[in-house]
Amino acid sequence: MSIQKNLEFLKSQLSEGIDLVAVSKTKPIEDILKAYEVGHRIFGENKIQEMTQKQELLPKDIQWHMIGHVQRNKVKYMASYVSLIHGVDSLKLLREINKQALKNKRVIDCLLQVHIAQESSKFGFDANEINAVFDELKENTLSNIRVVGLMGMASFTENKDQVKEEFLSLKKTYDIHQSSQKLSILSMGMSGDYELAIACGSNMIRVGSRIFGERNTPPL
Ligand SMILES: *Cc1c(COP(=O)(O)O)cnc(C)c1O
Repeated sequence: MSIQKNLEFLKSQLSEGIDLVAVSKTKPIEDILKAYEVGHRIFGENKIQEMTQKQELLPKDIQWHMIGHVQRNKVKYMASYVSLIHGVDSLKLLREINKQALKNKRVIDCLLQVHIAQESSKFGFDANEINAVFDELKENTLSNIRVVGLMGMASFTENKDQVKEEFLSLKKTYDIHQSSQKLSILSMGMSGDYELAIACGSNMIRVGSRIFGERNTPPL
């Protein structure tokens, strides 16, 4: 299957209101252009340096999403162009994004990453910390960032019941804060579990290998 066919098939499955982030990490410019040529504009990368190199070479109407773990000292490299940062997992990081956004005279949209997997290796806030984070945000006026939603990654397991439970727990956290915090994005679901994620309420999926094929290099 070609990248364009994969993309078309995937899009035909998505109902109105569900956004697709095409995860192009480790993939060459030519592959991204193939998706671009059939009208796709939202791409996700997990390394700031790689994303920035690609951003410089590719058309400027691409919306770049940072989906990986973000190191504070690298925020400055993407602050001028990044469209959405999915993996915000500390207040310190939010403050740094705010600072760099201010320098670039723009507002950067962010998602708070919530730790839903049983594995301890995945980053993110615990669901019960999210309240405190929103309280903090009310006090500190970080006027150059906007928290527009939540993001989560389920456990890497064949156990669909467990994955479902994890997605539903994130949906619950989202529902609690959605109207008071004016949230509009719930980013969950990847190649192996996006259908389940959508069934559990996701409205933004991040799909890589189902579009671009398996990656040769490890994802992290
Ligand atoms: C790599 C990655 C994806 C996409 O993974 P696939 O299984 O290739 O679809 C989605 N989200 C994050 C955070 C990733 O790092």
